[in-house]
Amino acid sequence: MVTMRSLKTPEELLAAELIDHDMLDALRTVADHYAIALTPTVVSLIDRSDENDPIARQFVPDAAELVTTTAEREDPIGDAAHSPVKGIVHRYPDRVLLKAVHVCPVYCRFCFRREMVGPQGDGTLSPHELETALDYIRRNNQIWEVILTGGDPLVLSPRRLAAIMRGLAAIDHVKILRFHTRVPVVEPDRIDAALIDALKQSGKVVYVALHANHAREMTSQARAACTRMVDAGFPMVSQTVLLRGVNDDPAVLSDLMKAFVETRIKPYYLHHPDLAPGTSHFRLGIDEGQKLVSALRGNISGLCQPTYVLDIPGGHGKAVIGETAARREDGCYSVSDFRGETHRYPPK
Ligand code: SF4
Repeated sequence: MVTMRSLKTPEELLAAELIDHDMLDALRTVADHYAIALTPTVVSLIDRSDENDPIARQFVPDAAELVTTTAEREDPIGDAAHSPVKGIVHRYPDRVLLKAVHVCPVYCRFCFRREMVGPQGDGTLSPHELETALDYIRRNNQIWEVILTGGDPLVLSPRRLAAIMRGLAAIDHVKILRFHTRVPVVEPDRIDAALIDALKQSGKVVYVALHANHAREMTSQARAACTRMVDAGFPMVSQTVLLRGVNDDPAVLSDLMKAFVETRIKPYYLHHPDLAPGTSHFRLGIDEGQKLVSALRGNISGLCQPTYVLDIPGGHGKAVIGETAARREDGCYSVSDFRGETHRYPPK
């Protein structure tokens, strides 16, 4: 079935034959908690003949999302603890997150910000809130990099993006802008000349971090959208979430990392899945992740190697958790944050 618009309700998923009728009640309850959206591109990628399809698993809701474990948290990476004004997260001295928008073209079932994104989430910054956020960046001259995330910042219209870019252009101490996005994969036609022109309005160095988790997401249209951005002068890096049933396999991860490099995207982060509510069916152990990362080493080019990291709950930032970086003690892992402080992290 070909859809022309995004699917956003369990009823639409049923009509598109992506769920069975007996799942409807449970998924209505899921939909009351967490937003649903699958773009036509994502729907076309799903293999309905495969009940374990890794694309469907990422985007089609599951009754397992109704199970929340005691380790899970509404704000698993601790954004709120480091938010001085609405829309800003200032965790590290030299960089901030600017979350101008809290909607996405798709809603990933494992999202670490699932309590904040979506139509019922924190919304889009008003002009006044955006000005307050820009003013915070203006007043803190140690901020060298602004990371535009959300939500997905590339859902903003070129006109609104250009306005934000011009606001940042006037802040001399900001040298780097980085966009985190899924748009080139899930809505590739949105990466057009108008959007690229908007991203150039700051005159700053612009990086784009693409979120993709399986090589099948890197379609010819997605690769063409990324090529338009790289050719426009925006270096690209990747971010991938390690997910049970999606990419917890050395061959799948190898194909994905190679697809990135073939598209001139440097593999950057491989994220251990966060402790987001209702996502335990996606999680695997740190020991399993370390084995997968070790399997990549030696089998594929050094260019293809991502850095395996986790976000320490409570807002302590990222820790590298390759086999030599995360120690197991007393049934838990001991991980270090960027200040050298150690934290305990559950094995699963
Ligand atoms: S695109 Fe990013 S922010 Fe949006 S639902 Fe997916 S993981 Fe979450």
